[in-house]
Amino acid sequence: MAIVDPIYEGLASGWKHLDGALYQGSDKPQSLEADVVIIGTGAGGGVAAEILTQAGLSVIMVEKGPLRSSRDFDMEERTAYPNLYQQAAAMKTADKAIGIFQGRAVGGSTTVNWTTSIRTPADTLAYWQSEFAVKGLSADELEPWFEQMESRLNISQWAFEPNRNNGMLRRGCEQLGWDYTVIKRNVLGCWNTGYCGMGCPVNAKQSMLVTTIPAALSAGATLLSRFEATQIEHHADKVFGIWVQARDQNLAPRPEKLMLKARHYILAGGAIHTPVLMMRSGLTDPMQLLGKRTFLHPTVLSGAVFDEAINGHSGAPQSIYSDQFVWRDGAAGELGYKLEVPPIHPVLIASKTLGFGKSHAELMANFNQLQVVIALVRDGFHPESQGGSVSLDGKGFKLDYPLTAPFWRAARAAFASMAELQFAAGARRVLPISEGVGYLNSWQEAKAAIADMSLAPLKTVVASAHVMGGCPMGEDTTKAMVDSFGQSHYLENLSVMDGSVFPTSLGANPQLSIYGMVAKNATALAGRLAPQSKPPETAPETDPVADGVPETAA
Ligand SMILES: Cc1cc2nc3c(=O)[nH]c(=O)nc-3n(C[C@H](O)[C@H](O)[C@H](O)COP(=O)(O)OP(=O)(O)OC[C@H]3O[C@@H](n4cnc5c(N)ncnc54)[C@H](O)[C@@H]3O)c2cc1C
Repeated sequence: MAIVDPIYEGLASGWKHLDGALYQGSDKPQSLEADVVIIGTGAGGGVAAEILTQAGLSVIMVEKGPLRSSRDFDMEERTAYPNLYQQAAAMKTADKAIGIFQGRAVGGSTTVNWTTSIRTPADTLAYWQSEFAVKGLSADELEPWFEQMESRLNISQWAFEPNRNNGMLRRGCEQLGWDYTVIKRNVLGCWNTGYCGMGCPVNAKQSMLVTTIPAALSAGATLLSRFEATQIEHHADKVFGIWVQARDQNLAPRPEKLMLKARHYILAGGAIHTPVLMMRSGLTDPMQLLGKRTFLHPTVLSGAVFDEAINGHSGAPQSIYSDQFVWRDGAAGELGYKLEVPPIHPVLIASKTLGFGKSHAELMANFNQLQVVIALVRDGFHPESQGGSVSLDGKGFKLDYPLTAPFWRAARAAFASMAELQFAAGARRVLPISEGVGYLNSWQEAKAAIADMSLAPLKTVVASAHVMGGCPMGEDTTKAMVDSFGQSHYLENLSVMDGSVFPTSLGANPQLSIYGMVAKNATALAGRLAPQSKPPETAPETDPVADGVPETAA
């Protein structure tokens, strides 16, 4: 079957695309104007771009990463991580105790995510309403927006047999009588390859790269890739421009800059990066909220060796989850954890396991029989779970995330649950991924060892693919930077539409929450802006996009 590449075809049809690596500036910085400028093209930026262009508004999308397409997705970790991930997939907290995965390419993290699509849990929405004065986001109020996005992105329950990695999670739950759910995925015509994390090679994943962004470009929007928004120019209660700086093939800064002007500006650079841009630009933040309460769903891992082949690299990476332990102590009680599995690719797993030399070689030798369960800890609800703190650090940033006592209690409980589940599913040996424990040969042995094992930063492997918070929403300005529609409390023509607005983590994988909430907020914004839609007041002196800059995907 031929694989249609919407990026390749769209560029050939004349989409307006400017690649920062190829951009030839002039002596005088040029400017571009539109009704709306959107910084970041991930889950939030992509949805906003489509809705605003559909409403007849002119839109410029800006993305720091490159524009890649299925032609570039060669199913190789060594290509995918440097090309498509922040810091080549090696981003870490300041103390190096937590490894963080975040996308950095057109489509943002949706280009590399694993397609699990879950609506925001009702407990989370209720907690936001009572603790953060978030309005208009009850499950009922969000329902039509989730329905809209589920239809737009072809989100439906995975109708095929789970791969064996997920199958063992299901089998363990069945044996123990634990809750489990078959996952809904945003895929259309999925080939079940298992390579979602390296960019879908067949464009089945309904990421922003192949859905909303092509729709916006076909409707006349402009895309700037390999351009980073570096400075928001503002005065009193208004933004009057955003500087973007070109990046070269290796994403190193080039001297060329552009000034972008619009009636309204949307920040959608994702958690960490949206707050960083706001802090670097010196935006009003009287309560010092920016970057604080950054959440990660910090995740611990348990490996298990089965007699049979698991081949966790193959097949839909996530198709089963268990919520048995997420809410059992109430939202603000002990930290709950969600059980899922990751895809098992060699570099990913080798970097998230322990040991070196012989022991590591032994582990990797059993690679095809390795099954892995992950426990994603729900952070941000318990009083001693305040998340991490992003701060500016020279030209970059750092994220301090203290792993507090309630997290370690949850991690220990999670290691026990994962081992119990894996043995119930038939594992021969279980390996909690924390230094000093080693292989455990029975649930009885595991129970005692896990109760006793020492857990600590850098000893216990902790990872995250869910970065949230740092620019919270709500109506109470002592706790929130933006209102419940994502509109800044301080700047009348600025909104934030990405995962940074969550006041806590979610207790569920984030993409569908972002899609639904941004659909609602962008539609409201379009209603505000569209009736008076008009061409920019002053035409730019020169238009770098129209001036024939080569339009290319790479
Ligand atoms: C490996 C992996 C697997 C995942 N699996 C799932 C899953 O199965 N289900 C799920 O629900 N979630 C999953 N997630 C998480 C989910 O994809 C993200 O939560 C979601 O995409 C976040 O959306 P966002 O709009 O906040 O930011 P992102 O999607 O991360 O997009 C932000 C974009 O903005 C760009 N940017 C940042 N700063 C600037 C700047 N200054 N100038 C220009 N551009 C900028 C970034 O380069 C990035 O491309 C996964 C994430 C990863 C990394």
